[in-house]
Amino acid sequence: MAKKADKFEFQTEVNELLNLMIHSLYSNKEIFLRELISNASDALDKLNYLCLTNDEYKTLNYLPRIDISLDKDKKTLTISDNGIGMNKEDLINNLGTIARSGTKNFVKELSGEAKKDSALIGQFGVGFYSAFMVANKIEVLSKKALEDKAFLWSSDAKSYEIKESQKDIHGTTITLFLKDSEFSEFYRIEGIVKKYSNHIPYPIFADKEDYIPPKDGEKEGSYETRNVQINKASALWKLNKSNIKANEYNDFYKQISHDSTDPLAYFHTKAEGKIEYTTLFFIPATEPFDLFRVDYQSGVKLYVKSVFISDDAKELLPPFLRFVRGIIDVEDLPLNVSREILQENKIMANVKDQSVKKILTELAKIKDKDREKYIKFYKLFGKVLKEGLYGFNNDKEQILDLALFKSSKRDSLVSLKEYKEQMKEDQKSIYYISGNNESMLRNSPLLESFKKNDIEVLIMDEEIDTIVMPMVYEFDKTPIKPVNHSDIDSEIKTEEDKIDESKHTEILVKMREILKDDVKDVKLSSRLSDSAAVLIYDKNDPDFSMQTILKQMGQTNLPKVKPILEINPNHEIFEKLNKNEAMIYDISTLLLDMAKINEGMNIENPLEFSKTLTRVMLKAL
Ligand code: ADP
Ligand code: MG
Repeated sequence: MAKKADKFEFQTEVNELLNLMIHSLYSNKEIFLRELISNASDALDKLNYLCLTNDEYKTLNYLPRIDISLDKDKKTLTISDNGIGMNKEDLINNLGTIARSGTKNFVKELSGEAKKDSALIGQFGVGFYSAFMVANKIEVLSKKALEDKAFLWSSDAKSYEIKESQKDIHGTTITLFLKDSEFSEFYRIEGIVKKYSNHIPYPIFADKEDYIPPKDGEKEGSYETRNVQINKASALWKLNKSNIKANEYNDFYKQISHDSTDPLAYFHTKAEGKIEYTTLFFIPATEPFDLFRVDYQSGVKLYVKSVFISDDAKELLPPFLRFVRGIIDVEDLPLNVSREILQENKIMANVKDQSVKKILTELAKIKDKDREKYIKFYKLFGKVLKEGLYGFNNDKEQILDLALFKSSKRDSLVSLKEYKEQMKEDQKSIYYISGNNESMLRNSPLLESFKKNDIEVLIMDEEIDTIVMPMVYEFDKTPIKPVNHSDIDSEIKTEEDKIDESKHTEILVKMREILKDDVKDVKLSSRLSDSAAVLIYDKNDPDFSMQTILKQMGQTNLPKVKPILEINPNHEIFEKLNKNEAMIYDISTLLLDMAKINEGMNIENPLEFSKTLTRVMLKAL
C-alpha cells in the first residue's frame, strides 16, 4: 500500500535564500558538492561519536564511507553516506527551516543585489540549499541509525514533500536532478572532490569508466567500470609539514571554513612534549559574517586521535581569537571524552594556553617580517584582538605588543614598541587620547602642550580602545596614560611652563564658586597653549567617551561624574578678566560650555548658552 505524502511549505527565510541562490548569478556553483560532502562527513562524525560514547550504538557494524554515483542519461548525481541519518522530524527541522539564529539574521541582511550577495553567500557557505543552484529537483532518502522507518523528502525548491519509504542501511542518500549534465561527468566531479574534500577523514567512492583499447583481432575497444576512491581521506594536519603544499593548506581551509578566499596565514604545529597534540590554525582574509554577533560560531574543530569530537566548543580558544579557523587534535584524551568534561580538563586547558601563545607568537612574526600583510590582518581583526586587553589575562603583554595605533605625529599605524623607540629622553609615559571621532581627537586642546613639546600621542578612535585602555597600565615597564587625566599635568610641565599661581588665586576662587554644581574643581593648566580652557578627569573617574559607552551598554543609573575645568593662565582672557570682574560669571559659564563642545559633549542648557553669548557679543560691539 502506497503511503500518502505530506506537503510542507519552506520557512520564509529558506524561500528567500533559495530565490537568491537560484536567481543570483552565482559564479561558483561547484561548491554545492563541497557542502553535500561536508554534511555527509558531519553525519559520519556524529554517528562515530555516538558509537564511541553510547552503548546502544556499539552494536552497529558499518564502515563509514561516502558514495557518489552519476547517471549521464538521466542527468542525476547521487551522494550517499552511512552516517547518523534523519527521521521525519529531523528532515522537517533541518531541510525546511534555518534553525540557527545567526544564519537567519545573515539571510535577512542579504540585499537582493546579486553581486554583493553572491560574494557574501560564497563566504558564508549556504549548506544543503546550495544544491538547488544545480538541480531542479532534489530527493533525500534517509534512515536514522537505530530506527526502523525510512523517509523520502523531495522538493522542487518551491515546497517539499515527505513520505515513508524503504532503505536498507542507516544514513542518507541525496539525489540531484541536474539542470545540465556538467555535474554528471566523472572527471568534473573527481576534480571538485579533490579540490575541496580531499582531506575529509572518510573515503569517497565513485564509478570510473576506463577505456580498454582493442586487443589483437578486435575492431573496437571497450569500457570497464571500476569503483574507485577519489579522495585521499587522510587528515591533512596529520601529514608531515614538509609534504604539504601551500595550495593544499588553502584548499583545506576553504573546506573547513566555507570561505572562498585564500587565508592570510596558517600555522601548523606538532607538539610532542608532555602532551601530544597537533594544531592547524588559519587566519582568514575576510571577516566571518558573525564576528560581532553574540551567537558567533566557533571556527575551531576538536579531534581526539583524529576522531572528530566537536565543532561547537567555543572555549577551545578565547573570544579575542574567535576569528581563527582550524583544527586541534589531541592524542592524550580518551575518545569518549564528553563535551562537558572538556571545559575542566587540565590537558585541554594546557593545549588552549599553548595554542593562544602559538597564534600570538606567529602573528608577531608576521608583524615584524611582513608589515603589509600584518596591516591587512590588523584592519580585519585588530578590534577583536584588543578585546583580550580587557580584565586580567596572561596574554596581555603579547597582545599589547601586537596592537597598532594611530599617532599624532605619524601617518602610519605604530606599535607601542615603535612609540617607545621615539620617546623623548625625559618622557615618563606613553600618552594616548581616546574617543570616537578621529579629527576631533587630533584637534583636541588637550594635545596642545604635547604638540608644543613635540611629544607623540596615540590617537585611539575605536570604541574598544575606550573600554580596554583604562585597564592597561603599562607596556614594557613604561606607564600608559590618557592625556585627559589629572595626574599628567606635572609630567609634561617644563621650567618655562611654571605658573605663578598667586596671580590667579582670586579668579580661581570665584570660578569654583560659580561652576561648583558642574565641575569638581577649577585649576590652572600647563597643557594648553592656544585654547583658554579644557575638561579633564580625575584619575579614577571615567572620562566622557567611557561614560558614553557605559550608557550605550545599558548602565542608566551612573553616578554623575564631574569633570575638572583647567584654564590656561597665559591666555589673554584671564589677564583681561583680572581687570574686569563684572564679566566673570558669563565668561566662566561660556568657558565651561565651550570646553564641553570641544569634547563632543552636549551642553545642558543651549538657551542659557545663547543668552549669555548674546550678552557678551553686545558688550563687544
Ligand atoms: P549545516 O551543515 O551548516 O548545519 P546545512 O544546510 O548544510 O547546514 O545542513 C542542514 C542540516 O541538515 C545539518 O545541520 C544536518 O542536521 C542535516 N543534514 C544535512 N545533510 C545531512 C546528511 N547527509 N546526514 C544527516 N543529516 C544531514
Ligand atoms: Mg552543511
